[in-house]
Amino acid sequence: MGLNGHNPYARAMSETPEYDVAVVGGGPAGLTSALYTTRLGHDTVVVDRGGGRAAMMRDTHNVIGVTEHVSGNEFLQTGREQVESYGADFVRGFVSQIDETDGGFELTAGDDVVTTRKVVLATGFSDERPDPPLPRTGQGLHYCLHCDAYMFVDEPVYVMGTGEAAAHVAMIMLNFTDEVDVLTRGEDIEWSDETDAQLRAHPVDVIESEIDAMEKDDDGWLKAFEFESGERREYRGGFPMYGSDYNADLADQLGLERNDDGTIAVDDHGRTSVDGVSAVGDITPGHNQIPVALGEGAKAGIGLHYDLREFPRSPEAIEESGPVGADEVPAISAELMTTAVTHEGHAAGPREDVSDEPEPDAEQSTATDD
Ligand SMILES: Cc1cc2nc3c(=O)[nH]c(=O)nc-3n(C[C@H](O)[C@H](O)[C@H](O)COP(=O)(O)OP(=O)(O)OC[C@H]3O[C@@H](n4cnc5c(N)ncnc54)[C@H](O)[C@@H]3O)c2cc1C
Repeated sequence: MGLNGHNPYARAMSETPEYDVAVVGGGPAGLTSALYTTRLGHDTVVVDRGGGRAAMMRDTHNVIGVTEHVSGNEFLQTGREQVESYGADFVRGFVSQIDETDGGFELTAGDDVVTTRKVVLATGFSDERPDPPLPRTGQGLHYCLHCDAYMFVDEPVYVMGTGEAAAHVAMIMLNFTDEVDVLTRGEDIEWSDETDAQLRAHPVDVIESEIDAMEKDDDGWLKAFEFESGERREYRGGFPMYGSDYNADLADQLGLERNDDGTIAVDDHGRTSVDGVSAVGDITPGHNQIPVALGEGAKAGIGLHYDLREFPRSPEAIEESGPVGADEVPAISAELMTTAVTHEGHAAGPREDVSDEPEPDAEQSTATDD
């Protein structure tokens, strides 16, 4: 409800949902969608159970403006504080149930029930973890090729797995180092004969014996694996390639179209096959990288703003209901307006006295990119 008492959605639905946008998942993708929808004037909640792939980062690579020394948890904490500072709400919880309602959607997370007009699924996936013995994640066990290949330039590297992805990542690692082994760990090889011939034509060793033990270096990083065959090989680190377990239960509850690889099918603004539901980040196709997740989150946030914003009102609506009344603007809710005018980033502020009516016509932009 705006400070002027106008509720822009009252006409549209009998029971107004609590939020315009509910984002499920508080990783880089979901946080960015929430940042955009909140700053573009839409009441937004993020429901997040914590953890996720970004939280696993010991340090952050490939994100311009963020140094290598920032951990995933620091990155996420800063992002969350940013989003909260603009007025988004946070609920810590696991959304187990999502239902379509007349006016939107109802999400259940434990005892919390959230109603919303639009939903963004930013639930990501979990990497399938190999059996121990294993080094620590980030100190010899790595799940992000485009993030971590750089740190293995001229170092001995393993790739674990038996499928096409393992064979291909092993060959790809030859772009960075001349010591690459594939460890099948006693499992049957599943890559094709064609891939096998291709792999054997590269200087990659395939070690078929299971790992018996692991040695760590003084700095905590992996030093070597000992194999049941009695062989010992030194590695600085490597990549397990056992696939991704998509967090797609909610997508399935809603009947969203999914691609063959398990990702959710989306258009270029993250819209899914079900009206009112967007999906962003690792749960969608494309490179599993933070900058990509940020970009997808931003595009979905802007797409939702296109779908949700009240003005300009269409010529048809004006013909039906007459011109927009001064008491109908602005469309932003009272809570978000108060947060905006008292925010340190506000043009006139931060204002301390928020009881003044805003002046909607004070500054009009003619920009066409919004
Ligand atoms: C070890 C590791 C290191 C990496 N390093 C880098 C790097 O240096 N640079 C880089 O660019 N990329 C890196 N990546 C990749 C990067 O982390 C991911 O691409 C990025 O985190 C994807 O963001 P996301 O928001 O889609 O998913 P995630 O970060 O996985 O976040 C998803 C969130 O959704 C939550 N969630 C899931 N289901 C539910 C539910 N039902 N209810 C509530 N919450 C739910 C999860 O708990 C989680 O908080 C790394 C990945 C790993 C695993």
